[in-house]
Amino acid sequence: MDIGVEPDQTHGPWRRWALAAPFVLALLWVLPGLASDRPELGRDYLVTGVPALDPAPVRRCDPAVLAGLGERVEVPPPPGGWSGAPQAVDVFNVFAGEVMVSHGEREVCGHMHDARTRDSRFRAGVGMVVVPVAGDLEPIRVAWATPLKSRWIPTVRIGAPSPVQQIDTARLLVRTACVAVAIVLAFTALMGFLSARDGLFLGYALLCLLAVVWQAIVSGLSGYPEPWLPVGGEASRWLVALSCMGLSALLYVMWLLVGAAGRGRACRQCLLRTVGGCWLLGIVLAAGLPMPALGAFAEAVDAIFAAGCVAVFALGLYAAWRRRGDALAGIAAILPFLVMVLLDLADSRLLIEYRVEAIQLSITWFLTVSAYALNLRLGRLRRQRDEMQLLADTDALTGLANRRAGLVRLERHFRSAAVRGGMLSVAFLDIDLFKRINDVHGHHAGDRVLVAVAQTLAAAIRDAADVVRMGGEEFLVMLPGVSGDSAWQRMETVRTQVARVAAGLGIPGLTVTASIGIASQHPQDHDASMLLRRADEAMYRAKRNGRNRVVAAETPVAGSGG
Ligand code: GH3
Ligand code: MG
Ligand code: MG
Repeated sequence: MDIGVEPDQTHGPWRRWALAAPFVLALLWVLPGLASDRPELGRDYLVTGVPALDPAPVRRCDPAVLAGLGERVEVPPPPGGWSGAPQAVDVFNVFAGEVMVSHGEREVCGHMHDARTRDSRFRAGVGMVVVPVAGDLEPIRVAWATPLKSRWIPTVRIGAPSPVQQIDTARLLVRTACVAVAIVLAFTALMGFLSARDGLFLGYALLCLLAVVWQAIVSGLSGYPEPWLPVGGEASRWLVALSCMGLSALLYVMWLLVGAAGRGRACRQCLLRTVGGCWLLGIVLAAGLPMPALGAFAEAVDAIFAAGCVAVFALGLYAAWRRRGDALAGIAAILPFLVMVLLDLADSRLLIEYRVEAIQLSITWFLTVSAYALNLRLGRLRRQRDEMQLLADTDALTGLANRRAGLVRLERHFRSAAVRGGMLSVAFLDIDLFKRINDVHGHHAGDRVLVAVAQTLAAAIRDAADVVRMGGEEFLVMLPGVSGDSAWQRMETVRTQVARVAAGLGIPGLTVTASIGIASQHPQDHDASMLLRRADEAMYRAKRNGRNRVVAAETPVAGSGG
């Protein structure tokens, strides 16, 4: 017989190099710094940055830009004039274009990013603190560029600096947290992809990254602390392109989540192509359309998304009615978007004021529920993989490990014994004249004998995983930590137990015996196959010597009986 031990191929050399590469690169990066002349440690590191040269860090307003600001609002003083207390003015939800806040001589202009970085008290909105003289009647004026979409109405909050700043900070925290969650989910999905190799995880990671960029622009974080994505007017183009891409992908994922994917591969492919088309259309139109047309396009995208949400929600309800369990996750994921659509139709003041936060929280909720659904899928994939692995490693008739799994286990025992200097013995067992059992008593009886012998072996050995059906009527028993003499004793007991198997089966005239060859690991054994070969030869010697006996490879010992 062929006794080949399959080498362990799960860790090829390239993989080891791939793992080592980051460490080598880190070393190459750190070592020159360690080797170079290091300055004396002093207290100079306590002060970083350079002194400011600008006396007033306020950008003057460009009259040409000011003339172009289409939207204005005046905050009148209370009856009797301003009290003399400081007034904070914070403008929210202006994601693109110039904002101007002025009172008397004081005037602050800026895009989302630079206006807020001029006044460190405001982060989520563009703000300024003015201190009108007591009794002054001059209003505070705020102006901003006409928003791209009619529903994107900026809101102005005025009040004592502290509460206004607290609300501003709370908004910033919500916005940042939502972006952070999307980043974490993207990384988790990437991990999921690496472990499961399932394309859906990669798609989900892409969706999360899209959500990160989109949220960064819409929340103004793209300009914080320094612009890292387009800000100002150009941000609108990015936003519209990303909206078109993101919302089409979102609708597709919603559709998947409500379990509608069960309706067929062709439908899924068709929808995927539609999403691809939307991405292309979004990029081309957002880059090429003039601003007013871009606004109309953005409104159309929103309307289509709202209609899509309603349609998929209805599909989800139908699926839930048909008792498809996973539809509930889809319905839950869509719900916040649907609430937003309804609030928009009702011209809700709350939604206008907190639109950015509402959108970001809805997206975060959606991504989280999707991650939950994706994790369920990952669990299912893992269970399937484990089941397949078990099937691939198990002998169907006896339930023992099969040859493939057995040889992997033997190699592991062999290495462990070689490294630790322990002992390892193996026994090769072949049922005697089994062909005759089949011929005389039938194949079914032969199968019952195989199962009974397997059970006898598994019961006799401490760890049943060390008993392997190598094929046909041949079994391998691994005895880690057992010397050759002890192995012989044990297998001698097993041999007598096998000889009693026939009595338990109640088949008249049946005799079951086995020949067993034993070998123990030697320091000069290069691999497990040498050990196996010796055990196999010993077993054949047992056959030649008359069967029903145990023979040790080095010093053949005749078994009793036979
Ligand atoms: P020896 O004592 O020399 O080992 O003789 P043997 O008859 O046991 O050996 P041989 O290799 O000639 O026959 C093995 C037989 O085992 C042949 C094959 O039909 C039978 N066999 C192999 N797998 C199975 C199985 O799963 N079920 C049954 N019933 N028979 C099997
Ligand atoms: Mg055989
Ligand atoms: Mg045989």
